[in-house]
Amino acid sequence: MKDAEHWVRGEIRALTAYHVTPAAGFVKLDAMESPYSLPPDMAEELGRVLSGVGINRYPDPTATQLKRVLRESMGIPDRLGILLGNGSDEILMMIAMALAKPGAVMLSVEPSFVMYRMSAAMAGLGYESVPLRDDFSLDLPALLEAVHRARPAVTWLAYPNNPTGNLFAREDVLAVVKASPGLVVVDEAYYPYSGGATLLDEVGRHPNLVLVRTVSKLGLAGLRLGLVTGPDDWLAEFDKLRLPYNVNVLTDAAARFVLARRDVLDAQVARINEERARLEAALDGMPGVRRYPSAANFVLARLPDGPRAFEGLKARGILVRSFQGSHPLLADCLRLTVGTPEENGKLIDALRQAA
Ligand SMILES: *Cc1c(COP(=O)(O)O)cnc(C)c1O
Repeated sequence: MKDAEHWVRGEIRALTAYHVTPAAGFVKLDAMESPYSLPPDMAEELGRVLSGVGINRYPDPTATQLKRVLRESMGIPDRLGILLGNGSDEILMMIAMALAKPGAVMLSVEPSFVMYRMSAAMAGLGYESVPLRDDFSLDLPALLEAVHRARPAVTWLAYPNNPTGNLFAREDVLAVVKASPGLVVVDEAYYPYSGGATLLDEVGRHPNLVLVRTVSKLGLAGLRLGLVTGPDDWLAEFDKLRLPYNVNVLTDAAARFVLARRDVLDAQVARINEERARLEAALDGMPGVRRYPSAANFVLARLPDGPRAFEGLKARGILVRSFQGSHPLLADCLRLTVGTPEENGKLIDALRQAA
């Protein structure tokens, strides 16, 4: 009776912990990280800034300065509130926990970000999903049917979507917002690569729409910093579930330092967008390979034999993400994170041999 199996909730025992493949020694193109770290002079200056941070003190709980920098950097107007998370994953958890009334349901689409389903299980929220169409667009009639039938407490939509890389039709997303009795969360983790596509201008116009952003895909994944913006009544409730001091002093200082020098990050993003185009063109020239449109810093491609190509890449020192077995729509698909020009060159050569 003193064992974990007896006491731990069944939904948790049924989960598999979020899997991260060990990547030492590989060209790492599996996790949508930016391949660029800071230029040496800026890294040195950051070191000096961090050396002045008092790690003996708890963080500023209001994070006023950090919020101001994030607002400026992401164009979030003053009239909208902001709540910070230790990555947007933590925000997902706060929302799921807040809404987990007995019998309440989270709705999402599949394939999409696995953390939506996982956060529902962690929080004890029911979960339903609607399959995307073959081209990974939203099946709006099916989604609206699910909204009306299940009356989800929360619906998650990633815009652009992961792992498919596409942007759903904006009108479709808004139709879901309007039809939903519960909260709709639009997750814009890939906003830096979306060519400006965003629903930020809609936030505040709907009582049930909140928007999530993160600095992770912008080259700051290691800092663990995300945010949610939306109507104050929702944010005030989520704030009660935020663990005290969830954004640490080093993250606060480093994010302020780097985001105040946005031109460096913007130049990195521009390079990644150029390289995405090169990778897409190369994939389009490979016989038997189907490449899907991307508004993110990765490209999804369907190969004649996905698992074989995955192993072939691995044997050549390149780690990407295979989705074999995770969803029927992703059979033989590999998700390729855009790396440096040199890394992408290696990836393209290896794909030509391994695909
Ligand atoms: C990568 C990703 C995130 C980022 O999560 P963080 O916790 O902020 O690193 C959020 N949503 C989606 C869809 C993602 O792909």
